[in-house]
Parts: sequence; C-alpha cells; structure tokens
Amino acid sequence: MLNIRNYINGHYCDPILGEWIENVNPATGEVYSLVARSAAPDVDLAVQAAADAFPAWSAMSAQNRSDILMAISRGIALHAEDLALAESADQGKPLSLAKKMDIPRAIDNMAFFATEILHTNTEAFQTSSQVMNYVVRKPLGVVGCISPWNLPLYLFTWKIAPALAAGNTVVAKPSELTPMTAFLFGQICADAGLPPGVLNIIQGLGAECGEAIVAHPQVTAISFTGGTTTGKHIASVAAPMLKKMSLELGGKNPTIVFDDVDVTQVAQHVARAAFTNQGEICLCGSRIFIQRNIYEKFREALIIETQRFVVGDPLLDETRLGALVNEAHMNKVLGYIDLAKEEGGKILIGGTRMHVEGRCAGGFFVAPTLIEGLDVLCRVNQEEIFGPVATLIPFDTDDEVIAMANSTAYGLAASVWTTNINRAHRTAHQLESGIVWVNTWLNRDLRTPFGGVKHSGVGREGGSEALRFFTEPKNICLQF
Ligand code: NAD
Repeated sequence: MLNIRNYINGHYCDPILGEWIENVNPATGEVYSLVARSAAPDVDLAVQAAADAFPAWSAMSAQNRSDILMAISRGIALHAEDLALAESADQGKPLSLAKKMDIPRAIDNMAFFATEILHTNTEAFQTSSQVMNYVVRKPLGVVGCISPWNLPLYLFTWKIAPALAAGNTVVAKPSELTPMTAFLFGQICADAGLPPGVLNIIQGLGAECGEAIVAHPQVTAISFTGGTTTGKHIASVAAPMLKKMSLELGGKNPTIVFDDVDVTQVAQHVARAAFTNQGEICLCGSRIFIQRNIYEKFREALIIETQRFVVGDPLLDETRLGALVNEAHMNKVLGYIDLAKEEGGKILIGGTRMHVEGRCAGGFFVAPTLIEGLDVLCRVNQEEIFGPVATLIPFDTDDEVIAMANSTAYGLAASVWTTNINRAHRTAHQLESGIVWVNTWLNRDLRTPFGGVKHSGVGREGGSEALRFFTEPKNICLQF
C-alpha cells in the first residue's frame, strides 16, 4: 500500500513517531493508502528547514522566483492526468470535474502569482519638497498554510503560490482526508527547481500537526481555509501570539431569482450552483429564494435540472455527482435531511443515500436534494450543510428577500438572477456578502478580492490582496 509521506527540506520522509492514518477512497469505501500522522516534532523539522531556506529565497529576485513558480505550473500541467485521478480518488468528485476545474485552476494559481509578482509596485508619498516617504514590502518569514478537503490542490496552491511569490518560505498542511495531490506536488516542486526547505508539506490530523503549525513561535502568519468552528479555534491560538491571520471559512450562500428571468435557462445555472462538486464548495448556493409569481414554474424547472445530475462512479464520463468525502460527512448531510423533515420541510427530490452498483457499491453517495416549506430561520436554513442539499424559499418583495438572505451568521457569496439592472445593483449592494455574482456563478478572475464577511472569514485572498497579506509594509521617510 502506498505511504503518503511528509515532504521536508526537499525530500520525502516518514513521520518521526512512525504513525499512519488510513486513507479511504470515498467512492468505494476502501482504504487505498496510508497517510503520515505527523506531530509537533515533524513540524519542528519543517519550520527549521523553512527558516534556513528563508534568507536565500527572500533575497532572490522576483524574476527568479517567478521562473520557478512558472516551472511548477508547467509541472502540474505535465502531470494533470495523474493529479486529476488522484483528486477524484481522494475526494470522491467526478474525474471530469477534477480535469476541468481542479487541476487547471492549480496550474493557473501558480502561473498567476508567478506573473503577479512581476507587476506589483509600492507606494511613495511626497510630504513636502524636502520630505519623501516610500514603502517597501517585506516577506513575513516562515508562514503556515492550512487547506481543506473539498478542492484539495486548487486551494492548497491558492495559498502557497502567493506566499512563495512574495518571498516567504512555507510549512503547508493539506486535509488528512485528501492528502494525495499535495503529496505529489512536493515532487513537482523539486523537479521544477524549488530549493529545499522553501516549501515543506506536512501530512496529518488538524488537531495534531495543524495545531502545531499554528502554535509554532517561528511561524509568523497563518493562512487557513476550512470550517468556521476550526477557524475560531485557530484564531484563539494564533491571536494571543499576535500572528497575522487570513481565515477563509464556511458559507450558507443565497441564490436570489427574480421574476423577470428566463426560467429554464436560469434553473440550469441555479442547479449547477447548488450541486457542483456534490455541493461541497464553500460558494455553493444552498438557499434558493424565488419570487412568488414564478415559484411553481421555477420549482418544476429546477427539479428537471436536478434530475440531470447523474450520481455515480466518479470515473465515468456521464457522472455529474460523485461521492461525499467520507462516511461521517455523508451521515452529517443525511442527518440534516432528517432534520429538515422534523422542521416541517417537504423533500421535492432526492433526500436519500444512493447505492451505486459495482466498484462503488461501498461508496458514500447522496442524491441531489431539494427541500421546500422550511422557515428561513430554522437550523437547516441557517447552518452550513456542505452537501448536495438546497432549500427553496418563496419571496414577494426586494426588501423581504434581502432581509432573509442576510439572516444567517455567514456572508461568503451570493448570486442574483435578474434582467433589471437597477435591481441587480441595489440587491448586490445590500447583501452582506464578500462576493456577489449577478447572472453568473463561480465566475472567477484571480485578480479580484476573495473572501467573506461575518462568520465566513477575516481577510481576503486573491490578486494584490494575497500579496499584501503575505508581506509587511515598511515606511521609509527621507529628509533631503
Ligand atoms: P476543517 O476546518 O475541518 O479543516 C480544514 C483544515 O484545517 C484541514 O487541513 C484540517 O486538518 C485543519 N485543522 C483542523 N483542526 C485544526 C486545528 N485545531 N489547528 C490547525 N488546523 C486544523 O474544514 P474541512 O471540513 O476540511 O472543510 C470544509 C469547510 O471549509 C467548510 O466549512 C467550507 O465552507 C470551508 N471552506 C471555505 C472556503 C473559503 O474560501 N471560504 C473554501 C473551501 C472550504
């Protein structure tokens, strides 16, 4: 069986304590590899390697760092097929989605920050004819990057690329549920000429090696993507140590459909927003608000679109919904469907575990599910489910839908569907959300600020925001 080892100081190594965790393919339910169960001593080694590598890496020219990051991007492209297969086996997502979305995005993340670093500038302030200020941006040192299981290599590289581009060295941890592509990424970095110690990849459990990264006194900043509860805990460890933090957390995103839209066309997009990647994307629209005079018509169109989300073996081309990431998560999602029934909801379609024949008989599949009849303030409409489950909620007026959309503790992303330009702008401005898409969803430009408000996070990733996070400004004031 394959052992998924740590990548420290430019080579692979076993965890010091010699412990391993079983890694399950969620589509089959079978253990197919073992993951290093790293602990504080492994993190110490990684931090030391990163600290040793920092002076040379941070002193390198932006062009030289850019060249290496571009070579890593090309390395991902070279191994795209294997990485897509690995992502699908670890996460349960359709192979076609990993090929179309996850791996291309990892390629783009590296290439984007490789070029972004060549096009940045810093500020200068002329105070008087004899006084001038200018700002230099310095890398932070050793930084920690911790990522979740839903878009494994996509989100892992989204943090690592700006951290490295800005001249930091990194100790990174992927989720213990999806360690494989980060493991393969180490070799790609080595082949691309990334100097030893610049990136160190530690595998293991969040509460053990994740927390050891957060608590390490030499780690100056933490970039974290994951659940809100974990984010709050990380903040409680890192804040008293006065570390810089970027927290990208959960969501309970509204999709708002006004009555002036083309129902059939918009239903397609709304279903995609609800069910892509089994609904396991922090940006998925899981609360669908529909203006009352098109409610019945839209509901029927949405049910038809939902039926098109074929659940099955992630390796098959026709599959649009793969397995949920593990059994515990599947049970959590099914638990929310039971709760919806208790809370008075009516299941319109789905609502059950799905059994797939053959190779995937032991897999963790849930049918795409639509529910109506729930109060907007009930738990199912307030808590993040993170699965293929969406609720339908009718509304009458613009003010009413904005109040309902804003009624959760979260504020990550929203989508608004209308052909009325005034309504589009007004609604977008009034939503408590870090990201609003109008007549589109998951339409990403890597230069834009990415992140949420309220319990969806602190700080922004993307473009210059990410480079600002991974650097510290120093103002130098000159009297001529
Ligand atoms: P999680 O919080 O359980 O784990 C995320 C990462 O944190 C994993 O690598 C885990 O091992 C690590 N971790 C856990 N406990 C830790 C601790 N005490 N100290 C340090 N590290 C620790 O989240 P998850 O279940 O992997 O991912 C799903 C969640 O991520 C959802 O809530 C989803 O909305 C969120 N998410 C947010 C975004 C975003 O950009 N806002 C993107 C993707 C996912």
